Amino acid sequence: MFSRNVDLQPHNTLAITARAEWFVAITDERQLPDVLAAARQQQLALTVIGGGSNIVLRGDVPGLVVHIANKGFSVVGEDEQTVCVTVAAGEVWDDWVRQSLQLGYYGLENLSLIPGTVGASPVQNIGAYGVEIGELIEQVQGIDAVSGEPITLAAADCAFAYRDSVFKHGLAGKIIITAVTFRLFRKPRTNLVYPALQEVLSPTDVEIDPHRIREAVCNLRRAKLPDPAVIPNAGSFFKNPVISLVQAEQLQSRHPDMPAYPVDATCVKVPAAWLIDQAGWKGRVKGPVAVHHSQALVLTNPGRGSGNELLALAQEIADNVKDCYGICLEMEPVIIPFQLD
Ligand SMILES: Cc1cc2nc3c(=O)[nH]c(=O)nc-3n(C[C@H](O)[C@H](O)[C@H](O)COP(=O)(O)OP(=O)(O)OC[C@H]3O[C@@H](n4cnc5c(N)ncnc54)[C@H](O)[C@@H]3O)c2cc1C
Repeated sequence: MFSRNVDLQPHNTLAITARAEWFVAITDERQLPDVLAAARQQQLALTVIGGGSNIVLRGDVPGLVVHIANKGFSVVGEDEQTVCVTVAAGEVWDDWVRQSLQLGYYGLENLSLIPGTVGASPVQNIGAYGVEIGELIEQVQGIDAVSGEPITLAAADCAFAYRDSVFKHGLAGKIIITAVTFRLFRKPRTNLVYPALQEVLSPTDVEIDPHRIREAVCNLRRAKLPDPAVIPNAGSFFKNPVISLVQAEQLQSRHPDMPAYPVDATCVKVPAAWLIDQAGWKGRVKGPVAVHHSQALVLTNPGRGSGNELLALAQEIADNVKDCYGICLEMEPVIIPFQLD
C-alpha cells in the first residue's frame, strides 16, 4: 500500500533533497480510512503534504508522508447572489481559480497564481492583493487523523487570521483536509484595495472584469516573484511582523522611511521585506542558498542546499533584524519533520 524511501525533492518547491520513510498518494479520499488504519497498525507518524510550496524539509521524514492528490468539484448550493462549490483538497489551487472564473463564479481572482493545493489554502489562510481565503470559505471537510472519523468545520471554527488558522495550532497534524467549500459570487465584486492593482487597473473603469484582475495579478506576480521551477523557493519566508504603535513611533524617529500599516488602534504591520532589505540582506548568497536579488522576503535554493542550510540563513537574518530593529521575524513555511530525534 505504501512506497518506501521515497525522494521528496519533486514534492517541495525549495527542491530540498530528503526522503520519506513511507509515502502514499491519495487520489480518492475513500482510500484514507484504510491508509490511516494501516499507519496506526504500523505505528507510523503521519505528515500531510499537498504541493510542498510552504514547507522546509530539514531532514528525512520518519513515518508516513501522505500526499493529498484527490480531484474534482461540485456545486452544493446556490442562491441569487452566491454559489457554494465543494472542491477536492488535491486540486491545484490556481487550476481551481481559473476554472471558477471560467464558470462565472467570482471572488478568487486576487488569489491567482498562488502555488499549492486547495486543501492547504485554509491552513495558512492564503492571502494576496487584499483578499484572504478565509473570507470566502464556507466550510472545511476532513478526516480525523487518529480516529479516521469525518469532520466538518464551519469557517467560524477555523480561527482564520493573517497567514494563520486553527490548522496551524489546535488541529495541527490532527486533521487531513479532504475538501474545501467556497461561497463565491455570481456577479463580480472586485477588490482593488491593493495599491499595485490600482496602478495597473484604472479605478475609473466602472466595471472591472475579474478576468482582467486575474490577468493583472498573474502579470504582477510573474514580474515580482521567482518561478520555483526555475529558482527553487517557498514564496515569502517571513510573515510581516505586527508591532505596537509606540514601538513603531520610536523606530520611525530613527528610521523615518520605515513603512507601517495600521492593524488596529494600537498596532501596525511592518513589511518584513523592508526590514530585511534595510539590514543589507537582499541578494546575499550563503553557499547554495540565497536571498532573492529583487525580493528580500524570498529565500531561494539555487544550489540545491539542505533544509538546515536554508534555516541557518533564515536564523541569521532574523537575529540581525532583531539586533537592528528589536523586531522578531516569524517564519511563514512549516518545518518538516517537526522534531528530529
Ligand atoms: C512562489 C510562491 C509564491 C507564494 N505566494 C503566496 C501568497 O501570495 N500568499 C500565500 O498565502 N502563500 C503564498 N505562498 C505559499 C504557498 O503557496 C501556500 O501556503 C499554499 O497554500 C501551500 O500549499 P501546498 O499544497 O503547497 O501546501 P504544502 O506546502 O504541501 O503544506 C503546507 C502546510 O499545509 C499542510 N497541509 C497541506 N495540505 C493539507 C491537507 N490536505 N490537510 C491538512 N494539512 C495540509 C501541510 O501539512 C503543511 O503544514 C507562495 C509560495 C510560493 C512558492
